[in-house]
Amino acid sequence: MKIAIVGGGAAGLMAASVASEKHRVVLFERQSRVGKKISASGNGKCNLSNSSLAAERLAEAEARDVYNRREAYGIVSRFDYTALMKYCGEVLGLETYADAQGRVYPRTENSGSVIDAFRLRCQKNNVKTVTDAPVVKIEKSSKDFRVWLGDGQYYHFDRVIFCVGSNIQTRNFTSFDLLNGFDIAITPTQTSLVPVKTKKVWLPLNGTRVKCGVSLLKNGKKRAEERGEVLFRDYGLSGIAVFNLSAYIARSIVMGEKADFSLSMDLFPELSEEELVSKLTARLDVMGADSKTFFVGLLCNKLAEAIIRKKKLPPALAKSDISGLAAYMKNIEFQVSELCDAEKGQVMCGGIDMSEIDENMQSKKVPGLYFAGECLDADGLCGGFNLHFAFACGYIAGSAV
Ligand SMILES: Cc1cc2nc3c(=O)[nH]c(=O)nc-3n(C[C@H](O)[C@H](O)[C@H](O)COP(=O)(O)OP(=O)(O)OC[C@H]3O[C@@H](n4cnc5c(N)ncnc54)[C@H](O)[C@@H]3O)c2cc1C
Repeated sequence: MKIAIVGGGAAGLMAASVASEKHRVVLFERQSRVGKKISASGNGKCNLSNSSLAAERLAEAEARDVYNRREAYGIVSRFDYTALMKYCGEVLGLETYADAQGRVYPRTENSGSVIDAFRLRCQKNNVKTVTDAPVVKIEKSSKDFRVWLGDGQYYHFDRVIFCVGSNIQTRNFTSFDLLNGFDIAITPTQTSLVPVKTKKVWLPLNGTRVKCGVSLLKNGKKRAEERGEVLFRDYGLSGIAVFNLSAYIARSIVMGEKADFSLSMDLFPELSEEELVSKLTARLDVMGADSKTFFVGLLCNKLAEAIIRKKKLPPALAKSDISGLAAYMKNIEFQVSELCDAEKGQVMCGGIDMSEIDENMQSKKVPGLYFAGECLDADGLCGGFNLHFAFACGYIAGSAV
């Protein structure tokens, strides 16, 4: 059979390398090279999976809410961490390792290796990869599909695997416009895993990183919490902990909810408020009362200066200042105004409704049309969950055609 793959990202490359074991495959990529998002992923190291996606640990991942759609766990269970690692090692020749948090990287720590491994496999299986080739229309006749390119040419295929990623603008249409003739339900989209704009910003701290706990409050109630790095920016807050919390805001926006969100930073998540009071009280004896030197060795200077200013601490601290200071440092609240724009984000929340596909990723309404990857309405947190999802969809669709 002749298979068209639309989009040469993680899902498309996996689908192409698997489908080409049995079929003639043509992969169309609108950009000048395949795998551009893979190359940017994981800061160029490509965090391609997570060991908590092993079938026996999926319940743990589900309890952590790593995907926003239940269906995603079903897809991942059919091509789990163990299966992906086996495919990488035995088929692609791609050596990998997992760090202490279960995040999987190529052994080379270079995302280029992942793209090269797929490119080589596709070459070996005679996949025809056509770059600078935006697909502009997909039509279905009674016997096959016609795939139209921007140059006005069209080609016939028996099956199409749709792997366009996010719903980006290509010339005068968006990738999802290709589905216009097919009555496919698409949920509204919103960028996720993105920095957050806050109503008040701590300008002097722009560029400062702080390891802390951070909670997301939705209408004043705690919705989720993370520990990790927060990066102060001149528009608000960034860093992996904030990215993960942005996913809950994106999900709420996609669902059309009207909610107020705020982020509460805990500078000492390892201590209870009481323990922090004791620690700071003991510190008064050691460091003295001068508020300028009190924080030396405890907080970075810029953060200490900001806290002195915000809390209006007196030049000489007294024991009576300590409990208010501890309470403040356990709960520094920032009201969220909005999420940053798509170019700062990592993944699209929303997309092709999960009810549109069967267990083979095939459209229930359009037999022969398959969907894979980020274009589906399922997204995950940081940590390799999104690339794994794209690879799993690509593998299932590529095997099923
Ligand atoms: C900066 C950054 C860092 C990230 N880091 C990580 C990470 O470390 N770990 C992780 O799990 N996830 C990470 N992600 C998310 C992850 O990269 C994506 O979830 C994943 O790449 C999605 O794969 P995909 O194949 O579905 O879509 P994409 O990778 O977006 O691929 C879709 C492809 O389709 C092409 N296309 C679109 N429309 C057309 C058309 N009409 N015709 C032809 N081609 C078309 C696009 O050009 C693109 O190449 C990161 C994302 C970003 C932006």
